[in-house]
Amino acid sequence: MLEKITITSPFWRERQQIIAKEMIPYQWEVINDLKQVDIAVTNTGGDSSALDSDKSYVVENFKVAAKKKQGEANPGKRGGMVFQDSDAYKWLEAVAYTLECQDAPELRAKADQLIEIIGAAQEDDGYLNTYFQVIEPDRKYQSLYMSHELYCAGHLIEAAVAYTMATGTKKFLEIACKLADNIDANFGPEEGKIHGADGHEEIELALLRLYELTKEERYLKLAEYLLLIRGQDPDFFTAQQRRDVELGRKSLIPGLEIIHPDFKAPYFQSDKPVEEQMEAKGHAVRVVYLCSALALGAVLTGNERLKRAADNYWRNIIQKRMYITGAIGSTPHGEAFTGDYDLPNDSVYGETCASVGLIFFAHNMLRERHDGAMGDVMEQALYNTVLAGMNLDGKGFFYVNPLEANPYLSKVNPGLRHVLTRRPGWFACACCPPNLARMVMSLGHYVYQTKQDTILSDLFVDSCAKFNLAGQHITLKQSTNYPWEGTIAYEVQEAGAAGFKFAVRVPQWCEHFSLKLNQHELGAGAYELKHGYLYLKEHLHQGDLLELTLELKPMLVEADPRISADYGKQAVLRGPIVYCVEEVDNGANLQCLHLGADLEGHYEDKLLGGVYVLESHGQRRIRPELGQEIASPLYRKVQPAQFEEQLIKLIPYFAWCNRSEGEMRVWLNPQP
Ligand SMILES: [Zn+2]
Repeated sequence: MLEKITITSPFWRERQQIIAKEMIPYQWEVINDLKQVDIAVTNTGGDSSALDSDKSYVVENFKVAAKKKQGEANPGKRGGMVFQDSDAYKWLEAVAYTLECQDAPELRAKADQLIEIIGAAQEDDGYLNTYFQVIEPDRKYQSLYMSHELYCAGHLIEAAVAYTMATGTKKFLEIACKLADNIDANFGPEEGKIHGADGHEEIELALLRLYELTKEERYLKLAEYLLLIRGQDPDFFTAQQRRDVELGRKSLIPGLEIIHPDFKAPYFQSDKPVEEQMEAKGHAVRVVYLCSALALGAVLTGNERLKRAADNYWRNIIQKRMYITGAIGSTPHGEAFTGDYDLPNDSVYGETCASVGLIFFAHNMLRERHDGAMGDVMEQALYNTVLAGMNLDGKGFFYVNPLEANPYLSKVNPGLRHVLTRRPGWFACACCPPNLARMVMSLGHYVYQTKQDTILSDLFVDSCAKFNLAGQHITLKQSTNYPWEGTIAYEVQEAGAAGFKFAVRVPQWCEHFSLKLNQHELGAGAYELKHGYLYLKEHLHQGDLLELTLELKPMLVEADPRISADYGKQAVLRGPIVYCVEEVDNGANLQCLHLGADLEGHYEDKLLGGVYVLESHGQRRIRPELGQEIASPLYRKVQPAQFEEQLIKLIPYFAWCNRSEGEMRVWLNPQP
């Protein structure tokens, strides 16, 4: 298994540094309300005006809950969304992964302080959720369709697992186990327990991770139960909604009705049991959190039902419902999947969290299947949507990730209002920034996997990794300037006498590659290509240097013709990076651009923190009325099109929206 990995890639180190130095301290100030921030309330789904946007209340809420627990008559105000607690947990999880990468005693002290506050708020029976403790204590575990109680618990548990692994301390883990025990006491097949799960999946994956750390079988069983009970009673959540209405209870999301057309069983993936689900339906983040747990549950239990369910979801998402950027979720209505091949580029939702969840799903599938195509998806979501979720300076974040944007239309069209063309500093519903932070800080966990006596290289990241493979200590240094260059060198700095087997993922976009061992070219007889991996036939030994060169060249891509939004259009890729055009480089009316026959690239170290740009000698459709206030008929009889030459400049999609505000698009017109 992997024991330790140090990321040395300038591309990733820079992002990890930004997160460690800018984003995590910034989030600390936000969750502690130490400074006024620009909180965008566009993404709560409910009535924005019903929320306080001046404060986050995150840490304050735990203090209020602790005071209430101690019997103080006026403990103070509990504020923010019903799931506000999860922001503290996600911050802690990002800190945990940061502590894995570097020594940061001040950060560690802040985290320990927050863990104390959280522990003080936890009730004696293990229950922990500030909303229900402070505001509606009689409603605990009764409104699971929207309460996010187990969702928040899941984030606490994931954070505690990561923190324990990073620091070796037990305090946070004790809180997590006590909370997991409370859930175990309240949910399960036994009479008197709740026979259902949370409306927002997350606890399932968290319990599996807690099991992996503690080896406590009860957590594995509970996770399996929560996965398989889902959808057994399709009326489970709607019955709770009806009951809440009957009791005159308030909506848990301000401004959103309890019984809402968007919130029926499919939204919660509970219209049928998981193994009968053939399509990804409902809230996209919920779906991929469920899927991540199904895939990991299949690895840990061998349960065929879980495996089948994970496979069905995987096939449907990857073959029919995913954007080229690894974004998922085609509509803001319910932040959800819609139907097969319905992938509009402008009104897309494409939540950053959903792509983080897709990476978890792909990674857990990869752990069982060792199929390189799953690694390709992981990389696609990572290098495109996830990275686009953050400004290059780490101070602004996207929740929605469009493939086509126009600031004017986002202002005037209510159907596009969710598509922002500037990254706000923070969100009232702040799930995405910390999710992105934990993903980038934990990147080391995704670089390799081990299978018996084989090390598999999944991601190309300049790094140094230490493994313990059946008692054999191995140190593997990976040197590469990926994603800008395609050469990856693996140097075995330490290995036992027996050596080890090695495999490396060869991405599907790569048409040609070459392989050298200790400067000698290796022919096809030296390896086997299987399920997207190249398996070396000979063992690697100490001192060996293996060099893989993936041919990285710009590629034009077309979509399945059933995706009507992309019909007749082309996208540009180079390796895992999807490219886009921006108004700042190419002028307005990007819809009038046509790519040329060529695509040449070069690295610009001064642009956007250093990116590889592509250029095409293309054309722009000209009409006198474009760009001028000339009165002209909206429609006219077709006339021969006129073009002028234009050098089109394309930048990596993840770097868009870091200069002046303007139009952007990924799918372009082909050569006329
Ligand atoms: Zn999110």
